[in-house]
Amino acid sequence: MPGELIGNEREMGVESAACWSQELQRAAPSDVLQWAIATFGDRLGLASSFGGVSGMALLDMAVKIKPELRVFYVDTDFLFPETYATRDKAMRRYGITPLGYRPKLTPGEQAAQYGDRLWERDPDLCCALRKVEPNQRALEGLDAWVAGLRRDQSATRARVQPVMWDAKFNLFKICPLWNWTEEQVWDYIGRERVPVNPLHLDGYPSLGCTHCTRRVAPGEDLRAGRWSGSEKTECGLHK
Ligand code: SF4
Repeated sequence: MPGELIGNEREMGVESAACWSQELQRAAPSDVLQWAIATFGDRLGLASSFGGVSGMALLDMAVKIKPELRVFYVDTDFLFPETYATRDKAMRRYGITPLGYRPKLTPGEQAAQYGDRLWERDPDLCCALRKVEPNQRALEGLDAWVAGLRRDQSATRARVQPVMWDAKFNLFKICPLWNWTEEQVWDYIGRERVPVNPLHLDGYPSLGCTHCTRRVAPGEDLRAGRWSGSEKTECGLHK
C-alpha cells in the first residue's frame, strides 16, 4: 500500500477503518494520534499544507508525541509566500524537515504542454498534475497518513471519521480532528502557541494555490474561497 489492491483487501481496509473508528469515537485527537503512531509506526506520515489551522494543530500534537514523525507537504509551485514562511517557521519551532513533493512538470512545462492557465480551463487536470500525483509519491511505502479533515469544514466533509479507508490512494487515512470545530482548533492554537499562516487572520481560513484561493466573506463556508465560482470543492486528495 498504496498501489493496486484486490477487492477483498480493499474490503478489509474499509472494515478495519470502521472498527477502529468505532473504538476511537470518544478519543481526544492526541489519543487518536498516539494510537496511529503505535499502530503504524514508521509507515505513518503526516500531511501538512502549512495553509490550514487544523494541519498546524495536528503537527504540533504529533511531533510532541513522535518528533521524528515523517511530515510531508505538496508544493504545487503556486503556494502563497506566507505558506512557505509558515513552513520555515514550523521547521525552526519543531526542529523538523518536512519532505516537499513537487509536480513532475514546472509551471512553464505545464503551460507548454497543456496551455496557459490550465487552472482556469481544467482545474481537475491541473490538480491531478500538481497535487494528486505528487501526493501519491509522498504516500509510497506508507500504510496510513494523517490529515486535518474536519466535519465542520464543508458539506463534502460532513461524514469524516477518525479512521477511514482511503480508496483513492489505498491506505488508511487518520483524521484526529474529525469532530472538532474551528473554534476548538483556534483554542488549541492559542493555548499551545502554535505558529499559523498569517493569512488566516486576513480573511483566508483555508489556503491552497494563489490562483485558486480568495478571501472568504463573513458567514461563508470555511472553504468557500477555494475554486470560488466553480463547482469544484476539493483538489482530489480527499474525494
Ligand atoms: S489549486 Fe488551482 S493552481 Fe493549484 S493545482 Fe489545483 S487547479 Fe492548479
